[in-house]
Amino acid sequence: MMDDFQLSLTTFVERAERLNCSQAVVSRRPDASLRRTTLGECADRARRLASGLAGLGVGDGDRVATLLWNQTEHLELYFAVPSMGAVVHTLNPRLSADELSYIAADAEDRVIVVDESLVDVVESIEWSFEHVIIVSDSGCAPAGTMRYESLIAPSQRMSWPAIEERRAAAMCYTSGTTGRPKGVVYSHRALVLHSLVLPLPDTFGISSRDVIMPVVPMFHVNAWGLPFVAAFTGAALVLPGPRLDPVSLLDLLAGERVTLTAGVPTVFMGVLDALDAEPDRWDLGSLKRVNLGGAAIPTSLIEGFDRHGLTIVQGWGMTETSPLGTVCRLSPDLETADAAAQHEYRARAGTPIPLIEIRARSEDGTLIPWDDQALGELEIRGPWVAAAYHHGTGSDKFTDDGWLRTGDVVRINERGCMRICDRAKDLIKSGGEWISSVDLENRLMTHGAVAEAAVIAIPDERWGERPLAAVVLHDGMSVAPEELRAHLGNQFARWQLPDRIEFVDAIPRTATGKFKKTALREQFVHAACLI
Ligand code: AMP
Repeated sequence: MMDDFQLSLTTFVERAERLNCSQAVVSRRPDASLRRTTLGECADRARRLASGLAGLGVGDGDRVATLLWNQTEHLELYFAVPSMGAVVHTLNPRLSADELSYIAADAEDRVIVVDESLVDVVESIEWSFEHVIIVSDSGCAPAGTMRYESLIAPSQRMSWPAIEERRAAAMCYTSGTTGRPKGVVYSHRALVLHSLVLPLPDTFGISSRDVIMPVVPMFHVNAWGLPFVAAFTGAALVLPGPRLDPVSLLDLLAGERVTLTAGVPTVFMGVLDALDAEPDRWDLGSLKRVNLGGAAIPTSLIEGFDRHGLTIVQGWGMTETSPLGTVCRLSPDLETADAAAQHEYRARAGTPIPLIEIRARSEDGTLIPWDDQALGELEIRGPWVAAAYHHGTGSDKFTDDGWLRTGDVVRINERGCMRICDRAKDLIKSGGEWISSVDLENRLMTHGAVAEAAVIAIPDERWGERPLAAVVLHDGMSVAPEELRAHLGNQFARWQLPDRIEFVDAIPRTATGKFKKTALREQFVHAACLI
């Protein structure tokens, strides 16, 4: 029998320190200046940071909260906190004070590390952290707080303790589009295994030759695990800080010769507009892949990036799945298929990555066949899929045999490649038949005048539910609802077309940038009731 070697993140941090120490970490400050350091220096500072935290009383299993952007200090906390046996709890600064207060109390955070640009946010949280630690370029820290650098300064370097693989390493709350946020606790083992599968050639395909720029925030599901992947593969990291406007991102992608970036589609829709407007401004010759996920990827976005010689690879995941569950890579036989067939395939959420298993259940409780026709709610299991929420809330999200109910409604083809048709609650059921709001949105967004579209279900006496489309037009454009319906008409049956098309200034978004359909429903369903 082999050694029962424990799978802890410490092995990655030590690898960063010893073997990958000279690889670059570039971090962009809010003033757009770049700070350059190395994986080795971050790992070294992590030991000193851990000693400082221990000096404040942080011990085994204690939660250390962070309110930070994608910046070097966040990486140091990713290294230090799990390696010392504590739990790094990333907080999303875009959440409301009420949600953050609930989350900090539920997690019982002891200490919080905050970027100076987010001090207002931490002040709005109703929870008594024992220590508030400020990351500050200016060297100032408000009264009652302490400076991050003063924790790092002492020369003591922690020797990492042995960590059992099933211990908690990190924590993140679900985005809470339905009900109160729920805590997901990631074990060392889960994050190690997830990190090992990410770089495989048919997953994200990452090596020490890559320069990774996670645009996905480090406060959301560990930036998809990419910082840990960099630590052990020795890929260089570019951390874009708080400024995620298209021009800032493109400047960084080109300037740092990034080979792989990752984020949600909404951010990259803006990037595509900027590229279309000034196609020759940036040299993106190094960029091999743009990995997108977290929300449906419109085919128009995939085609748009193709026009610039850039390849979007779609992934699907959830906070509860660490996050990567599936990824959509063209299989060899599809590489020779025509462009339309390839685009159709690449707009899918993908096949399960190794060690992940999926299945889907129809409304009558039976498992659906993988025929790309039947619709069912996706269930998933694997070593980095949650088996419960913190404090045991939301137990109805797990099946009796231990699979996670995702709330996503899918079709799965014979290759095991799934298409997300909707969130369970978003699927529109009209006259007993399903209408996919995602398909309608994707098609609406291929119309030249449409910047964004979100489709929701409106209660209807006769049909049960009918679709309503909220549409944002590009600046200076106008279009009649009838024209949009005609645009949809050649791909959808008449009964599937939205009865109402409402032009709005903006579509409300959740803190993670997704369409907040609950808010749209409130706006339009409420209005419908008043009429
Ligand atoms: P979160 O836990 O906030 O990361 O949200 C997870 C949810 O985002 C999933 O359950 C899906 O509804 C949605 N999602 C993630 N990836 C995709 C994708 N590629 N296509 C469509 N929806 C996605």
